[in-house]
Amino acid sequence: MASPASVRNWDLEADVVVLGAGLAGIVAALEAHEVDPDARVVILEKQPPKTAGGNSRVSGQSLSFPVDMAAYRRYQAALNQPHPLPERLLDAWVAGRTGLREWVEAKAAEVGFELVPWGNFGAEFPDMPGAECIDDLYTLRPATGDPDRRPNRTYPSGVYLCFKAHLDRTPEIEVRHEVRARELVQDPDTLEVFGVLGEWRGQPFAARARRGVVVATGGFESDSEMLGTYAGYAPGVTPYGSPFNTGDAIPMLQKAGAKLWHMRNNTETGGNHPGIKCGDRGAVVRNPRPKARSWFDIGANGRRFYPEAGNYHDTHFKYRHHDRWEDVPISRVTPAHMIFDETTRVTDCLAARGMGWFLVVDGYEWSADNSAEVAAGWIQKADTVEELAIKIGRDPRALAEQIARFNAAAEAGVDAEFGRDPATMSPLRPPYYAAELVAGLICTTGGAMRDEYGRVLDHQERPIPGLFEAGELGSFHSNLYQNGSFLTEAMFSGRWAGRSAALRSP
Ligand SMILES: Cc1cc2nc3c(=O)[nH]c(=O)nc-3n(C[C@H](O)[C@H](O)[C@H](O)COP(=O)(O)OP(=O)(O)OC[C@H]3O[C@@H](n4cnc5c(N)ncnc54)[C@H](O)[C@@H]3O)c2cc1C
Repeated sequence: MASPASVRNWDLEADVVVLGAGLAGIVAALEAHEVDPDARVVILEKQPPKTAGGNSRVSGQSLSFPVDMAAYRRYQAALNQPHPLPERLLDAWVAGRTGLREWVEAKAAEVGFELVPWGNFGAEFPDMPGAECIDDLYTLRPATGDPDRRPNRTYPSGVYLCFKAHLDRTPEIEVRHEVRARELVQDPDTLEVFGVLGEWRGQPFAARARRGVVVATGGFESDSEMLGTYAGYAPGVTPYGSPFNTGDAIPMLQKAGAKLWHMRNNTETGGNHPGIKCGDRGAVVRNPRPKARSWFDIGANGRRFYPEAGNYHDTHFKYRHHDRWEDVPISRVTPAHMIFDETTRVTDCLAARGMGWFLVVDGYEWSADNSAEVAAGWIQKADTVEELAIKIGRDPRALAEQIARFNAAAEAGVDAEFGRDPATMSPLRPPYYAAELVAGLICTTGGAMRDEYGRVLDHQERPIPGLFEAGELGSFHSNLYQNGSFLTEAMFSGRWAGRSAALRSP
């Protein structure tokens, strides 16, 4: 632990220091400034502007606003099982989302954005008590200037850009880019936090925080060692979000004496979404609702492993197993491949557009008929099964057998092995294609336990003075996830943390 006395020189002094410029960090900084416009509020962000913004920037941008808060309390309590939140925090969660829609609409209007329906989605788990509280999902997009006015279309980065616009028009809040926070400065006896140490372009950097530090550095989905340690994932599980969300806050919070929670739960990832590997450039979320039918997936053992065309997307790739909602087992069967034919290639764009780092930040435009990706070598093509098998390192006889079994099941109209809906199946005909699949992560939820004021708690569940947290890091989500809940949590937890830090006596 770095004590205040050990810091010889502060590179920066502020009242509130926020770590991370994703949605939670931006909202925390805006709220701190709104509560006390005289307070000096600074955001320290690890990345330069081009690659800052974390998962918020590349998410699907869906927002959910429960219409009946009593029902929402029941629904959220059911989603949390078997890891219930303390009742007090569940109440706070409900309170945090009460009136949030009106707040978002007002914020959007101030910077020329509007709230629009995201796409006829109801509750992900409609059989759970209180699920009727979710009537639809919403998103934000610019109110003018977007030529594509189709309803139910994600405007890439829409929610993030709305709040970034607020930040950009608040010059009183300084954003220092390329500062990577590493360690908190604390009183060794009281644990009170006085600032943060890190690096700026490889040089040591120290920031003093007179009132508080808000940690909003997102998840650890881009650190394969942490994914192994905390979530049990083998290497190769791939993030769809920021490659720079490497869980830097986890050792920082541990060292600070924080009690960690939700490091591994069913919603830790928002599910394991099958994705298509794009060489060494990352992966894209696979189109979750392909219209084509002549395709299936095989796992490491060369065999199919689930009814591929199920409505997994509606439940963040969870399926009912032994009376529990569990992750689709894609992470346990990699290396995996999607096998398909010419009809499937030309019918659907195989990437889910509008989200994920590779498409949104790197700006890659996936071709509508997947031909560019065949040319890039991310999709292999062959005239015969044998040739395809050799190209992807599979046993030709085993692959031929899988294709024959799938074709026979499609023709018979019965998938006896996995029960895939026959209406989603048709036989594969040459030429054949294969794309390497990854198990992709949307997010992680672990971090420090926090309370309804955004205060980080120690192992006795007492607040660590001057230390606050917001967003996906240390999320309230303790088991299943309802779409649109992470971005809204980034908003209300950011507001709590920013407000609490700004109101704390220096
Ligand atoms: C593909 C995808 C789709 C999703 N779709 C949805 C959706 O539709 N709806 C929904 O509600 N949620 C969705 N999510 C989840 C949601 O996007 C995240 O949970 C949320 O954006 C997290 O916000 P945050 O501010 O906590 O973290 P982030 O947005 O990840 O921001 C963290 C920031 O901290 C910075 N940082 C990291 N380490 C340091 C350090 N050491 N020092 C300083 N800065 C640091 C990062 O560079 C980053 O800018 C999706 C996520 C993904 C990846």
